[in-house]
Amino acid sequence: MLLDLSKTRAFRPLHWKAVASRLWSPTRPDLLSVLATVAAALALGAASDRPPEPGCPLGPGFLSSRESERKAEARFLAVPNPEKVHGYLRALTEEPHIAGTPQGLREAESVRDRLKQFGLDSQLVSFDVLLNYPKAVSLKLTVPEQRDLTLRETGYLRDKDSYSPDVFPAFHGYGASGRASGQVVYANYGRKEDFEKLEEMGVAVRGRIVLARYGENFRGLKVREAQQRGAAGVILYSDPADDGYAKGDVYPEGPWRPESAIQRGSVQFLSIGPGDPQTPGRASTKSAVRIPIEKLETIPRIPSLPISYGEAAPVLKSLAGQNAPSGWQGGLPFAYHIGPGPAQIEMAVEMDYAVRPIWNVITTIPGAEEPDRWVVFGNHRDAWTYGAVDPNSGTAVMLEMARGLGEALKAGWKPRRKLILASWDGEEYGLVGSTEWVENLAEELGAKGVAYINVDSAVSGPDFGAAGVPTLRDLIVSVASCLEEPRKGRPLLEIWRSKRQEEWAEQEPLCTDAQAPAFYLNLDPVGSGSDYTAFLDFAGIPVADLHFSGSYGVYHSMFDDLYWMEKFGDPEFLYHTLAAKICGLMAMRLSGAEILPFRFSPYARGMETYLRELQRLVLKRLRAAEASLNKPEKPPINPDFKPLGSAIAAFRTAAEALDAALDRLEAEGRPLDAARRGRINDSLAGVERSFLDPAGLQGRTWFRHLLFAPGLNTGYAPWPFPGIRQAVEEKDPAAFERELPRLVHTLAEATRRLRAAEQAVSGT
Ligand SMILES: [Zn+2]
Repeated sequence: MLLDLSKTRAFRPLHWKAVASRLWSPTRPDLLSVLATVAAALALGAASDRPPEPGCPLGPGFLSSRESERKAEARFLAVPNPEKVHGYLRALTEEPHIAGTPQGLREAESVRDRLKQFGLDSQLVSFDVLLNYPKAVSLKLTVPEQRDLTLRETGYLRDKDSYSPDVFPAFHGYGASGRASGQVVYANYGRKEDFEKLEEMGVAVRGRIVLARYGENFRGLKVREAQQRGAAGVILYSDPADDGYAKGDVYPEGPWRPESAIQRGSVQFLSIGPGDPQTPGRASTKSAVRIPIEKLETIPRIPSLPISYGEAAPVLKSLAGQNAPSGWQGGLPFAYHIGPGPAQIEMAVEMDYAVRPIWNVITTIPGAEEPDRWVVFGNHRDAWTYGAVDPNSGTAVMLEMARGLGEALKAGWKPRRKLILASWDGEEYGLVGSTEWVENLAEELGAKGVAYINVDSAVSGPDFGAAGVPTLRDLIVSVASCLEEPRKGRPLLEIWRSKRQEEWAEQEPLCTDAQAPAFYLNLDPVGSGSDYTAFLDFAGIPVADLHFSGSYGVYHSMFDDLYWMEKFGDPEFLYHTLAAKICGLMAMRLSGAEILPFRFSPYARGMETYLRELQRLVLKRLRAAEASLNKPEKPPINPDFKPLGSAIAAFRTAAEALDAALDRLEAEGRPLDAARRGRINDSLAGVERSFLDPAGLQGRTWFRHLLFAPGLNTGYAPWPFPGIRQAVEEKDPAAFERELPRLVHTLAEATRRLRAAEQAVSGT
């Protein structure tokens, strides 16, 4: 078992000490696994495509400070342990803590006080934001029978939290007040294409109640699509095919969603803009100008409510009309029909809207040398109920990481750059706490922001995943190669790579062409759905989002509680502990490396993948249109991507030259004077900013990044190259012709900055 490779001072694939420690470790004396380890180490050395380093690879950015960094990291890595992190989660999930409530404030204060106990400077930073809570909600099936549909979940004796009266009845954050009644229409996932299918089938939703299942796109966009087509109200439910018994045992026997569980959540139109809907693009300070509620465009005007599949079943069962088209049948034991009716629903929703304070907890570790460079690490703290997975597994991870950093500081570690640990509030409503904080410091962050690391639902199972801007890929690879996967006893990097390669082999079209792309482990592009959004899409700061995921069906329900985590999520808290180590090493290297630990070739490779996937999407749509009997009104467009391909190729050449210069500088390992380091880091930090365009994206100007944004119709899933992607989605050749030069120009600017950085590195 390769525990914390940083502990084995001279690790070389064939180093005898590593073998010895395996042979004589009390836990597993078997020779086979020793050999497996040596083989793994060899593969690892080969796979990380960076020059091999003795001991645990520190990754990019270190010149002459490697030994001191190793000592500090060893001090840090000795701290995180399962018992502690378990204790934090127990305390964090003691009571439900929705944003803006007294419980929410109590939780903020306890997190602040704990961080202070670690010797860190921690403060509450408050914003006044629009929030709603349910005042009165009712939902009735009126035809074919009178029946109240409940918005409460059924508890289980063995799980004391599951029947607490302290939890609000299920509701939607930023949901509208109102009354609505009418025939029900089933709209599958409530995506744009699902409503287009209903139109094609001649079924109108105007004046009716839309029933749609969770999944695929962001829930707010389901309500938006229905509202745009004149629906009177919307009911969203979790179908057992998506996260219930069709996936496996349901709670409390298993991790999947039981019959009475309800997914709460925000219905803000997230892909148009997150944050306080009354102050788009500016911070919700006391003096902020607020758009009147009745004029708001980014939250629904029609009422909506969430229900369980237990309550949705009698409604779905009472639908007649056409059979559900292919792909619309769910997991309930009967054939689905789409209506309209005969089922009729009556809903009454009264929301208590008000501007309320929320509390971010901001903890600052000063930078010894570059105080004006900020590395930010964040996790939200507010939850819909107990939040054991979402988000407090991340909060517990952040606390345990902070405890370790506190010990490293006491042992003399001094980060070069300022390190900010942020515990956000109001995320569940619409990334509110982080967005207001970023909007409030936009100028300063624009000048000083280096990177943002996010953990939201840090642990819901064993599978490591990392999304983000590929500039951070090599850093994450180096950290993952240092740490061991606790169950499999092999380097995390190996497990992560093999899982991703399996998925790639499944998805990548088989192609015999020698040019066919080979597998390359990279970070997934980010869309939205968590607190990295404002950092990347508004402030142009490279971000990463990390998590361990698994079988998890209780999202945003009463059952996302400590009992679920202890039984199913991470019973021994091994993955929480590992996550704390990953985050700690990332925070230490980003704030401690002499040179910013960035590499840009992975970015170019990421862009090549995004372009390839967009070209495949266009081709797929053209073929479908050719095959279809009903020629669509607007044919799909068939644009020329060559200018984009050339711009990416130029970016790649410059990126590889810069990376090679950085590799050479690090291999020399000679110290550089502060001024030179500053020039190099200025140029490296500036590359990501060149992708921002103050004019913003078409129809959603809050989003200013031209490479990344959430899909306009997806909300969660990313649309790389969002401007031209939107033109493809809207079959708008003129829009494409308008957006392509913008994108090519921004890439040319980034390439120019890469070349300038290379000159700074080579000292020419
Ligand atoms: Zn969350």
